[in-house]
Amino acid sequence: MTEGWPLTNGAIVVKRVFIKTWGCQMNEHDAERMAGLVAPMGYILTATPEDADLILLNTCSIRDKAEQKVYSDLGRLNAVKAARPEVVIGVAGCVAQQEGRALLQRSPAVDLVFGSKGIEHLPALLTEALTTRRPVVYTEDPIGLAPTLPADRRERVRAWVSIMEGCENACSFCVVPATRGRERSRLSQEIYDEIASLCASGCREVTLLGQNVNSYGRTSSEGVDFAALLDLIHPIEGLARIRYTTSHPNAMTPRLMETLARLPKVCRHVHLPMQAGSDRTLERMRRDYTFSEYLARVGELRRRLPNVALTTDVIVGFPGETDADFRETLAALEMIEFDNIYAFKYSKRPNTAALVLEDHVPEPEKDRRLQAALAIQRPITRRKNDAFQGRVEEILVEGPSKTDRSRLMGRTSSNLVVNFDGPPTLIGRLVQVGVIQVKANSLDGSLDA
Ligand code: SF4
Repeated sequence: MTEGWPLTNGAIVVKRVFIKTWGCQMNEHDAERMAGLVAPMGYILTATPEDADLILLNTCSIRDKAEQKVYSDLGRLNAVKAARPEVVIGVAGCVAQQEGRALLQRSPAVDLVFGSKGIEHLPALLTEALTTRRPVVYTEDPIGLAPTLPADRRERVRAWVSIMEGCENACSFCVVPATRGRERSRLSQEIYDEIASLCASGCREVTLLGQNVNSYGRTSSEGVDFAALLDLIHPIEGLARIRYTTSHPNAMTPRLMETLARLPKVCRHVHLPMQAGSDRTLERMRRDYTFSEYLARVGELRRRLPNVALTTDVIVGFPGETDADFRETLAALEMIEFDNIYAFKYSKRPNTAALVLEDHVPEPEKDRRLQAALAIQRPITRRKNDAFQGRVEEILVEGPSKTDRSRLMGRTSSNLVVNFDGPPTLIGRLVQVGVIQVKANSLDGSLDA
């Protein structure tokens, strides 16, 4: 990381940047890229906004709740700006893309607004804000390939690598096509070079990121699809594990499944959003598959990748979802038996097609449906986790345990956290650990079991 910015007289100017992030792994990685982009301008990361010269709120608008949190943070930052007018406050990410100039009206403390599509322009936009001392707003649509950007990563053993941006689909509940734009993939050679360089510095696991990660290459003329990209990066020296998120069911082709099954470094975990078990709801969501097509993909995945862990997203209370539709979703959860689910109540989002749908489900009913879905899933997850008791699992040791810093933690290929006792010299290594106890959200292991 950059330690400062040398002046012509040899003095070092250190400036501090505070970045707060809401939302998905893409956003988390965008924060690393923002830190990487401003590092050559002399900014180092700080943990508090009070001593920052630059404050960036990296926002998410996938749900109304996340968006409201941004506005309450901006309210608090008014006091920071009043005390130190020279501090630059920027709003980035999906809320910035969605609101654009309107953010300046809602919060006069804001100097810089740039959406998820404009991260690569951060140094130029920041320079403009600093020199003109006037608010700068950038919400243009990008064209061409997704860029390769520097990133200031916090972890050594694992790294997120963005391989594509945006989405060509049009799910009626989703803000992504509006906030992140059309699908753009990075060049495969640039992805290869980034991963090779990470592995040369001790990285052992990469998570390939994209809104529709498995449709990588669909809009580029390079002729490299996601399966070919996996084949390309698999031999990289030092690379032990490959993860990827998020996959779209329609892009989970037989060719890709064959590749996932053939390559041993690809982890045995697939996150495959189902969203609903009712065809009527799936159609209103514009998901472009029926439940039986989804079920067929799941069956094929399980046939080709024995022991694969399957997780999914479910939205309850989508407009027009009847009790009978919802019961089909519950039946789907019982039938498929996912390893885990991420269930959410539908919330109205700006610039989405679902806004104009009729028959919005009342909030108390959404709450009831959410609890019903979780009640079905809880014992399934528990039973699946219990099956690890007594098994020996290969885990990649990531570092100290989050719950007890004197212990170590790593993950199974299926993405379950395992805490165990061992020396720090194991960090970054694949080790065999016996599972001695199954807890609510993790496993306890032993090197001797
Ligand atoms: S596939 Fe659908 S839910 Fe996923 S990012 Fe694209 S529009 Fe959103």
